[in-house]
Amino acid sequence: MKIGLEVHVQLPTKSKMFCSCPTTDASAPNTHVCPTCLGMPGSRPVLNREALVCGIKLAKMLGCKVADTVWFSRKTYFYPDMSKSVQITQYDHPVGEGGAYVLHKEDGSAKEVRITRIHLEEDPGKTKRTGDMSSLIDYNRSGIPLAEIVTEPDLATPKEAREFLAQLIADIKHIIDLPESGERSIRCDCNISVGKERCEVKNVTGLKNAETALTYEMRRQLKVLKAGGKIERETRNFDETRGITYTARKKEFEADYGYIDEPDLGIFRIKALSDSIRIKESPAKMILRLSSQYGIDAKMARQLVSTSTDLASFFESVASEYGRENAVKWVAGPVSANWRAMEERGGKADGVLLTIGMFAEGKITDTEAGIEIKSAMTGMSAEQAQRSSEGLEKMISDYLDGNPAIVDDYRKNEKAANRVIGYVMKQTGGQYSSRDIVAATRKIIESKM
Ligand SMILES: [Zn+2]
Repeated sequence: MKIGLEVHVQLPTKSKMFCSCPTTDASAPNTHVCPTCLGMPGSRPVLNREALVCGIKLAKMLGCKVADTVWFSRKTYFYPDMSKSVQITQYDHPVGEGGAYVLHKEDGSAKEVRITRIHLEEDPGKTKRTGDMSSLIDYNRSGIPLAEIVTEPDLATPKEAREFLAQLIADIKHIIDLPESGERSIRCDCNISVGKERCEVKNVTGLKNAETALTYEMRRQLKVLKAGGKIERETRNFDETRGITYTARKKEFEADYGYIDEPDLGIFRIKALSDSIRIKESPAKMILRLSSQYGIDAKMARQLVSTSTDLASFFESVASEYGRENAVKWVAGPVSANWRAMEERGGKADGVLLTIGMFAEGKITDTEAGIEIKSAMTGMSAEQAQRSSEGLEKMISDYLDGNPAIVDDYRKNEKAANRVIGYVMKQTGGQYSSRDIVAATRKIIESKM
């Protein structure tokens, strides 16, 4: 099975891509519009520099070669949600091409996904069907800047596609300012082929929907092939409520869109601009760097970074002050387990750094350090923290004494720990965070090995 995605990211600019209409939510339909985004005769588009800058940043993040020169094309777009009958997009000379993006999977393995291209284009408006054979159109969205990221068909399963989108969104949020509900500002077209021909499911919003649409489509195609049928190349829509896809239209080929160069915008030489743009390290790159720089496995690096890049930075501070071993022992263990609780309380990790320092200098014991860290991070008193961790550790230890085979199984496969974790969760019903339970279980099993 092959899956490729076309991901549309709404870029966080204040005004639209080719005019000065605002991109904020409007109070009423068709209020954030002007002659340019409506395509009135005599109006002329002017490129929003900020949209171009965002495009270059994303192209760099995806490992693409950024073009020295870009221009725009008009794509025939004969639907009423684009009143000018063409959509301004990039065809021949997109902002970036030929990228490679490493996906860090949950199981700790990594996979390279090739990025075909990233280009800029304007969003169409919104159509609302009224149910009585007529439709209403709102052009407020028309002209909002989008970046479209196109992958090669390198994803193997619907679940992998979901993991890819989740990581991509987290990375994009780190590089450009997506709104908090970042997942909703991303829409994707999903291409999937089980046999030879592929189908495209258009306009899927959100991670869960992408996985659902792809899973439905995978099963549908398998069923057709099994019955001796043939998959036809077509575009399908996704029905979010029913979780199914259905035929929209037989697939057009790119040439059917009749691209012509956009004469009103001209050519942009962007090499100097692109050279001047530096981007922050993305979470995905940070995972790669942490695992090679500190010799930790990718799974641990991924766990640190996906909890929070601040936690990963804290790992680096501890490693540089008190050595890698203390960073692994404390930050990847109890600090990581309580990091979210600390953030929710609005706490800071400075005290934790001091505690780890005291331990590293031999001034306090292992147990004392553990209790102090837990209490500083969760706001529990030292006594409560002690009782809480003792209670948890005793329960795990007792269960392992009754089921000694788990320790042997764990040597062969770490998943054996799941039995203990499941038992403790059931017994304590939400008293401890799952991360606390996982960390304590690992620690105790390893002490019994
Ligand atoms: Zn406008």
